[in-house]
Formats: sequence, structure tokens, C-alpha cells
Amino acid sequence: MSATQLTGTDRRHAAEAPSGHEVTVRGARKRYGAVEALAGVDLDIEAGRFMVLLGPSGSGKSTLIRGIAGIERFDSGSIHFGAVPVSDGRRSLPAERRDLAMVFQDYALWPHLTVQQNVAYALRRRRIAAAAARIRVLETLERVGLAAKVDNYPNELSGGQQQRVALARALVGRPALLLFDEPLSNLDADLRERLRVEISTLTRESGATTLYITHDQAEAFALADEVGVLRNGRLEQRGAPEEIFRHPATPFVARFTGLAGSFTGHSVGDLGGYSRVRVGEHELLGKTTGTVSAGTAVDLLIRPTATTLHETRSDQNDVTTMAAIVIDVAYRGRGYEHVVECSAGRLAAVFDLRAWTRGTRCSITIDPDGCMVFPSGDGSQN
Ligand code: ADP
Repeated sequence: MSATQLTGTDRRHAAEAPSGHEVTVRGARKRYGAVEALAGVDLDIEAGRFMVLLGPSGSGKSTLIRGIAGIERFDSGSIHFGAVPVSDGRRSLPAERRDLAMVFQDYALWPHLTVQQNVAYALRRRRIAAAAARIRVLETLERVGLAAKVDNYPNELSGGQQQRVALARALVGRPALLLFDEPLSNLDADLRERLRVEISTLTRESGATTLYITHDQAEAFALADEVGVLRNGRLEQRGAPEEIFRHPATPFVARFTGLAGSFTGHSVGDLGGYSRVRVGEHELLGKTTGTVSAGTAVDLLIRPTATTLHETRSDQNDVTTMAAIVIDVAYRGRGYEHVVECSAGRLAAVFDLRAWTRGTRCSITIDPDGCMVFPSGDGSQN
């Protein structure tokens, strides 16, 4: 099939795109013995949006997505798709009647079926004439770049190709909700990146609502219209990736979405949304979250993007600049990441386009907008 024909296919898909489910979860709770996997989660996903749930291992992501899929039941709480009650603790719509499809980390293909048969299997409950179904299966396999592999068996494919089959199988039925359970975790870096882009574009073209879970912050930010951060079975914050990065609601969210490091000190004065914080001999300026009065013990959490290295500056004892020494340098392709020891402590992932040699004495500036001040000891280490 030529590129022009593919464009035609794209248009057809867009025209036929179903409107996705609007998903509403209220008070979802689930216990496994002593473990509270979900501790009362409310989740809203607008129709057609791409939502990513981000959280460390054990935070309840799989339990939540499996409940929505109908593979597992919550102990209490409800799920609605639009106005349709899907589950309310007592009654539960079977998975196959929820108009959704799921892609798993381990592909979950039938080993005894060919690529084409695996994808066609997803259409068995849809009332589509055999010839039309066959065309749709081949078209979908074309879209995921597997037209040449239709008659192969899963064990004849690479991991990335197998996950593409799983993606085609999810898309072919044009469901109203697509669920992804860490689909890129088993793949190499290069392949992860390519398949991530395919998932992003193909699911958005399909018009379905998407819920995707991952423990990888970069993956979450790259894919999501909206990110929800889960911790210990609770949704700690939700918002656009930019919002979560710029205004993390808690120290946990800040840490989980990437820091150069953190310093402990105490506030010595509030300057309208910013605090001067004494860290050892030094004073630094950071952005205040909530109320931080003078004397409060605080943690300064510093984003890598807020840090800049300079030749030693004469003003290096003001509230945004410190003396520093380069401890380590790592080449990252786009540039270099440095570990530096400064008067307040150590910072990592300090980026520059050029490499600073180990042992160089320099200055580091910290942009107060990427330096977040939270009262100490509110669970940020967990
Ligand atoms: P995540 O997907 O974020 O890694 P899970 O939803 O898989 O988290 O698990 C949340 C918590 O529930 C974890 O402590 C996990 O050990 C526990 N858990 C999940 N499934 C089961 C199960 N079938 N039996 C017992 N404990 C479980």
C-alpha cells in the first residue's frame, strides 16, 4: 500500500472514529489481605483524552486499570462510562461488554495463531462480514507496519513486533476505551521510543479514550494529555504534564518527576510566594508551596532544569548563586550531565551543552522557580 493510500485510510478511520468513553471512577477501594492496593480513588477521564497514571511499583496502577478493564473487581466504589453504570461493587458489566481493549506488558498473544489470526480474534464478537473483517485486519496491520508479517507466528517476531501485533489487536475493533499496562517495559530504548510515538499517534487517530499506566516519568510526560500520580493507592495529583512539573503539589510528586537534588534548611523570610531558606552557611531563594513561615524547617527540592553552571562569579554568594566544584560528568548525546558539590550540598543531572572537566571550580545558579520549598518531614522520602 502506498503512502497516498495510507492517507486515505487515515481519513476513513478519522471519519468512522467512535467517540470514546467518558470514564468516571468514584471511591475505588481494593484490599489484598493486609495490603490496601487502592485506598479510595476518584478518577475522571474526558472522552477522547489520553490519560497516564504514573506511580512507583506497588502504588496501585495495575489494580486500578484491571478494575476498569473488568479483569478484577474493586471491593467498593463505582465505575461509569458516560451515563452507563459499569460496576458498583455489587453488579459488574463483564469485560467483553465494556467496549474496550487492553495492551499488556508481556504482549499476551496466542502462540498457536498467526499474526493475522491474532488480530482477527479481536473481531470475533463484532458482527462484521468475513471479507470486511479481513480487510480491516490487514489495514490495521499495515498501520502498525506489519503487513509483511501477517502469516508469521508470534515466536517468529521480535518483542517490538509482537507488541505491534498486540496494538493492532487492540485497535482493530475500534473500541471506545484503550487500556495500556506498561506496554513498553520489556523493550529496548530505541524501540520504546518508536513504539511510544506509534501508540501516541494511532490511539489519538482512533478517537478512543486512553488510559495508560507506567512507572516511567519521561514516558508519562511524553504521552499524556493529563497525568495522574498514584502513591500508596491514592491519587496524589492530576494535571497536564507541564502543570505537574512546574507546580508539584507534594514533595513526593516533585521527587518522582525528577530532581537534581534536595537540601534541608529553615525559612528565614517570605517574599510573596518565595522563601529565603538558610542551608548551612548559605541562603537560597525558592518558590513556596503552601504556607511556610519564618523558622519553619523546610526541604528545597531542585529541578535539573533550574540549574546552570558558570565560570566562577563575583556574586556567588547571593540567593541564587553558589560556589561549586564539578565531581562527575556524563555524556548524554544532547550534551553533558554533571554532578556538582556546592556549598549547600550535592546536585546531579546539571545539564550543559559543553563538558565541564572533573575538579573544575565554578559557580552554579539556581532559578527560584525550579527550586521548590516544602515544609520538612511530610512524607517526601516515601
Ligand atoms: P502497581 O501496578 O502500581 O505496581 P499493583 O496494583 O500491582 O501496583 O499493586 C498494589 C499493591 O497490591 C501492591 O502492594 C501489590 O503487592 C498488591 N497486590 C496486587 N495484586 C495482588 C494480588 N493478586 N494478591 C496480593 N497482593 C496484590
